[in-house]
Amino acid sequence: AARLCSGAGGQAEAAGGDGAMLRHLARKLRASGPVTVAEYMREALTNPGQGYYTRRGGVGESGDFITSPEISQVFGELIGIWYISEWMAMGKPNTFQLVELGPGRGTLTEDILRVFKQLTSVLSKCDVSVHLVEVSPKLSEIQAVMLTGGKVQPNPQNELAYMKGISKTGIPISWYRDIQDVPPGYSFYLAHEFFDALPIHKFQRTEKGWREVLVDIDPEVPDQLRFVLSPSRTPATQNFIQPEESRDHVEVCPEAGVIVQRLASRIEKDGGAALVADYGHDGTKTDTFRGFRNHKLHDVLSAPGTADLTADVDFSYLRKMAQGKTATLGPIKQREFLKNMGIDLRLQVLLQNSGDTATREQLLHSYDMLMNPEKMGDCFNFFALLPHHRLVHPDKKDKPESKSPLPPVAGFNELLLK
Ligand code: SAH
Repeated sequence: AARLCSGAGGQAEAAGGDGAMLRHLARKLRASGPVTVAEYMREALTNPGQGYYTRRGGVGESGDFITSPEISQVFGELIGIWYISEWMAMGKPNTFQLVELGPGRGTLTEDILRVFKQLTSVLSKCDVSVHLVEVSPKLSEIQAVMLTGGKVQPNPQNELAYMKGISKTGIPISWYRDIQDVPPGYSFYLAHEFFDALPIHKFQRTEKGWREVLVDIDPEVPDQLRFVLSPSRTPATQNFIQPEESRDHVEVCPEAGVIVQRLASRIEKDGGAALVADYGHDGTKTDTFRGFRNHKLHDVLSAPGTADLTADVDFSYLRKMAQGKTATLGPIKQREFLKNMGIDLRLQVLLQNSGDTATREQLLHSYDMLMNPEKMGDCFNFFALLPHHRLVHPDKKDKPESKSPLPPVAGFNELLLK
């Protein structure tokens, strides 16, 4: 099963694990008091020794949750076509970097690179490189095997990258821990199910004003965690709650905000575009923090480090954090985006080319997973950052000086490849 949208229901499963992370957290909480949900989430997911992504990795059928690129190759292929179509619309610059944040098993990049390879004649004069931002040593190893056959150089000298290699299709690939380490330059960014894994702060409106939700040790039950409210306002309640906020419970992901600011500044300065795909809302939802383990909902406070923790992405916050440096498009539902990108036609071609019934059934099943509004079609969204000049101003549409207006951005409109 895919990670369902928040509120989709299901019984949370509590489970064991070896307890090392819980003991570490319990010691810390006893020594210095409750921590923010953001700090808890960061420890549980990316602690260098015991974090969930660091140790377990989680993505894929044998893991804890499955993602669109793992369901069907068509997903990554259509995203590859999105980048080519934007590259063409932006005047075919002679070099670009494909920068993926949180590449999981590397499947999405692999599918995109296959499209680039198939379109060699179109891309022939373009110098393409791939840059992967990944904190998990375990997942970067899996990505290296998937993309390069495992032929990589660790810790190359005089570089910010921690690993380098060449893709099976001949494209240089570098790995980094932070987006800031990726060299500047014209870049297409991709973040698929990345922002939902970043730490959130949680806030609750009370009679005495806003309070932050914290994680503490339960004094009654040894090594059991519980949520408490901060006794007074915290720096985060002051910084992150808007005066006009009407909800009673709010989640904010400042790290997502910082990354979007960086992406927007880089695109404004060096050109390119960013495509963000994730489950989320436009500043309307409240409590979406949840855990997944073995494809089932998991109690977020139970056995930290053994389950994936996630929260819906607030696209209205991402839009605000782009601070007008770039234009933004979306969020648009996954099924609309993929339809605009031509998924139906691609499915027909694959069905025609597949001889056996099992493959045809698999193709139809994965199409249904991606597109069905009750499955991933409605709750996953696409959102893009683009240079302002990429979008033709509606007022200028009919003016004589814009005789050949730029094509509409694919996915958010129908794909028109010339
Ligand atoms: N994009 C993939 C994987 C999604 S899971 C897919 O859709 O299949 C989230 C990914 O983000 C994992 O690769 C995880 O290791 C990585 N990740 C989580 N927190 C990160 C951080 N702070 N910096 C960089 N990568 C991170």
